[in-house]
Amino acid sequence: RAVVVTGCMATSHRRLLEERFPEVDAFLDLESEAAVAETLRRLLPRKGTGKRRAARARFAPGARLLLTPPHTAYLRIADGCSRACSFCTIPRIRGPYRSRPMEEVIAEAEALAAAGVKELNLIAQDSTAYGLDLGNRGLLPELLGQLASIGGIRWIRILYAYPTEVTAELLEVMACEEKVLPYLDLPLQHASPAVLKAMRRPHRPEHLEGLIKRVRGVVPGISLRTAFIIGFPGESEAEFKQLLDFCSAMEFDHVGLFTYSPEEGTDAARLPTPVPAEVQQERYSRLAETVQSISAHKAAGRVGSTTDVLVDAPSDVFPDFQRGRHPGQAPDIDGVVYVPRTMASLGQILSCRLTASQGYDLFAEKPEASPRCS
Ligand code: SF4
Repeated sequence: RAVVVTGCMATSHRRLLEERFPEVDAFLDLESEAAVAETLRRLLPRKGTGKRRAARARFAPGARLLLTPPHTAYLRIADGCSRACSFCTIPRIRGPYRSRPMEEVIAEAEALAAAGVKELNLIAQDSTAYGLDLGNRGLLPELLGQLASIGGIRWIRILYAYPTEVTAELLEVMACEEKVLPYLDLPLQHASPAVLKAMRRPHRPEHLEGLIKRVRGVVPGISLRTAFIIGFPGESEAEFKQLLDFCSAMEFDHVGLFTYSPEEGTDAARLPTPVPAEVQQERYSRLAETVQSISAHKAAGRVGSTTDVLVDAPSDVFPDFQRGRHPGQAPDIDGVVYVPRTMASLGQILSCRLTASQGYDLFAEKPEASPRCS
């Protein structure tokens, strides 16, 4: 066994991590990230048990090791970020935004499809900026079209969109291309004009409301996920209330909430008016209660409808069920759909009727008509 650590922290706090975790065999900064496979091959013994030899073979140069179930994969389309959110350290650690060449992304997607992947979850610090650094604002719709033409790929999901880059062309592809799921992850961070300004986010709440209405108008039934930071320095009770009211009005399907914590080296970390931890926590609880009840209500509203479900894994909670997801549920972060174990095998996409909900989660059975399986 060998342990290699890479990523943002391994880049920004390498010495600290080396001291704290002497059992780690190697730390690689982001520039050397591509050398993970080579490093593991070097660290894993050449000889030894069949298991060790098999582990070594999995790290062949250029091979992509999936840590997800074999039918689903994250596909990175760009790295870095050229925006200037005052609380965020990512641009400093990962550098300016760099789109991966489209042919490289397509080649990786084709290899994943050939290995049995059916669902691609597109990721970047800002997926909707794809192509901007190459002087081409409209590249994401084109990329989506090309990915959709790959045989074997059934679902394509966009994660980490930025509000100003959700264009009419992008929405049109989402509305018209069957494989591009009616799902958008759109982190908004806050909804008070003063807090957004302090965060150096260029939107105003009325723009965000207009955008959400437009998205829902063009892609009916779309699932919207967002994320907010609570207790940003200087956030007053009135500004928090604006966020609370915004969430009640917008009725997002899924919301991630985070209390603010300062990131070393950012402008926000130097702001003089921190919100006390107990106030942050109290606001978090109030907002969580609101968004959780909206999410549960939205899940309940799907009961009785028919939908495709991608079956991910056996359920840890209900032994007679498999755990899957409908198109409006991203892996790891949203709710799940439980389907009877006898009804589906892992990795299958099948048509189901949703029969009941429990919080964010749903239960499904075969629809009365003959099921559409693949
Ligand atoms: S929060 Fe997102 S968009 Fe803003 S600087 Fe960080 S990575 Fe970029």
